[in-house]
Amino acid sequence: MPTRAPRSPGAAPARVLLALAGVLVFVAAGAIPLQAQDDGLRVYISADMEGVTGTVTSDQLGPGGFEYPRFREIMTREVLAAIEAAREMGAVEILVSDSHGNGENLLLEMLPPDIQVIRSWPRPLMMMEGIDQRFDAAIFIGYHASTTNPRGVRAHTISSANLTAVRLNGVEMMEASLNAAIAGDFGVPVVMISGDDATVKEARRIIGDMEGAVVKWSLGFHSARTLMPETAYSLIGEKVKAALARVHDFEPYRLQPPLELEVSFKNYMPAELLAYLPIVDRVDAHTIRFVGKDMTEISRFIQFVTRYAPNITP
Ligand SMILES: [Zn+2]
Repeated sequence: MPTRAPRSPGAAPARVLLALAGVLVFVAAGAIPLQAQDDGLRVYISADMEGVTGTVTSDQLGPGGFEYPRFREIMTREVLAAIEAAREMGAVEILVSDSHGNGENLLLEMLPPDIQVIRSWPRPLMMMEGIDQRFDAAIFIGYHASTTNPRGVRAHTISSANLTAVRLNGVEMMEASLNAAIAGDFGVPVVMISGDDATVKEARRIIGDMEGAVVKWSLGFHSARTLMPETAYSLIGEKVKAALARVHDFEPYRLQPPLELEVSFKNYMPAELLAYLPIVDRVDAHTIRFVGKDMTEISRFIQFVTRYAPNITP
């Protein structure tokens, strides 16, 4: 995460000159940056993999799969398409979180040298680590439907192995809406999502207006009709541009505190043991409740619950 030096008054004339030079470059290129009068758009991109073009099973989704190396490249190129489109619309700072599996999927050498990438786990804000109030827009690439959605390729919420539902203030959450609520706490709207048709539909139902790039159509949990990668890259670029062209239309997705989180586990033991903690209530055999004052507390709690085991190393 870049730390920003405090602005000294003496630096102002140089900044003005730089800003003017930036405007001239954009005008020369035929594109008008949206916030040239400000100091440029800051864009946060969270990238998952189940919603990437062509991914349908574990064959593409993890290091053990025979197609994983190729689909890492396709995932990276989808992110690159979003980065290039954001650049065209005047983005001056782009932060990408590699938010699938081990968090080590994106091929860094294929990405531009002046962006930054969040990798691996655990991290307090999970798939949104690094977001803060300086960002103007959040973009979700390669996302998937929730574990409570009967449709969607590889539909799950955070942990397909362990969780059967995640609710916030009574709303069944998908990863996209949970992450939109984290962004919303910092005043940042989600402006665009890519994934299968079930994902885009569910995200719009829960979060609201956003641009959507449907790169495949779910036929079942492990099957889809898919676009070809080059077509998906173009579509993602188009939708990112459409979203950033009307970035002021989107509202941050804000949930009213206190935030009541309910997590349902596939098994009994996590619910039984977590309820030993005074901050946790047991709602039913498989479900616990935790109340947080903001999304940072909620996110840290979920990350703890899904990552902790007494034998973790180092
Ligand atoms: Zn996911």
